[in-house]
Amino acid sequence: MEFVPRRVYFQEDALEHPRGKRILDQLRDEGVTDIRSTGSHNRVTGIPGTTPQQAFREGKGTLVVGVKQSLEFQSCKPSAHYQLPLVTGCPGMCQYCYLNTHFGKKPYIRVYVNTGEILDRADRYAQQRKPEETLFEGAATSDPLSVERYTGSLREAVEFAAASPLVRFRFVTKYTSVEPLLKVQHAGRTEFRFSINTRGVIERFEHRTPSLEERLNAAVKVQTAGYPLGFLIAPIMADTGWQRDYQELLETLGERIPGPFTVELITHRYTNSARKRILEVFPRTQLDMDDECRRYKYGQFGYGKHVYPQPVMKQIEEWFRNKIDEMLPGASVPYFV
Ligand code: SF4
Repeated sequence: MEFVPRRVYFQEDALEHPRGKRILDQLRDEGVTDIRSTGSHNRVTGIPGTTPQQAFREGKGTLVVGVKQSLEFQSCKPSAHYQLPLVTGCPGMCQYCYLNTHFGKKPYIRVYVNTGEILDRADRYAQQRKPEETLFEGAATSDPLSVERYTGSLREAVEFAAASPLVRFRFVTKYTSVEPLLKVQHAGRTEFRFSINTRGVIERFEHRTPSLEERLNAAVKVQTAGYPLGFLIAPIMADTGWQRDYQELLETLGERIPGPFTVELITHRYTNSARKRILEVFPRTQLDMDDECRRYKYGQFGYGKHVYPQPVMKQIEEWFRNKIDEMLPGASVPYFV
């Protein structure tokens, strides 16, 4: 499943970079004709769409090629020390995606031409933490593999980590165009993770993303190429029959992937603003967002999330840990939230 944008904006100075020119040529070769310019990748105007659904869809079909100005990285606990800002946004339309409240009504995808500067900055962060290693997360605000064939920025980040004893890199994806990364020198310093879920969850909620089979096929290729491999089962949805559906998922995983690999477990949660936004964009959503069946948990930034009540969390955690022990001998579980 390749993302081909409906329209592309180039920040004016992005075309002064060789990467900007290359992306422009590639888009033209692919027959993309709606190519526009913008003064800033942060403020893009002219994307169509009047209803919330149209605006969302048109935003998700828009690629913006810019120059990243702010080179201050955000921290990224607990998954890594810092976010590595290679891409912002994602063409996928997962109903529950936490990005849905982050990028406005028209959530376009931003890619950056100055990856060299971004990686130089990463190197300086890593030098400051010397002699400890610094772990960078490449998918904190994006799914970078979805646009890799335009950017090549994951490849650069993988090579950057391979060349530095101070740097480790990780990212997670639902996309499957892994071929360009298979021959890259990774030195085992990049962890390649796939986000997976039951077939039912993928069909109902993860629009415009590859199927479970496609993701597992890609994972086999990545493992064969020697990358440390991981999976996120996220979000775990404890709706009727969840044990049966997740048992099937774990069976499929065990049959297809020999291990070793990690399995990060993340339960479904939502904020009040996410629910409002989801109902605007997906008015007929079947996502379970009944506050009565949730516990409100205050977060460190002052806003809270609706998570499953403590007894349900305990039941889910025990079930997954036991089943993974029993069914996936090559797997380890770094955390459950
Ligand atoms: Fe969000 Fe990931 Fe789905 Fe993209 S693939 S919409 S980043 S959940």
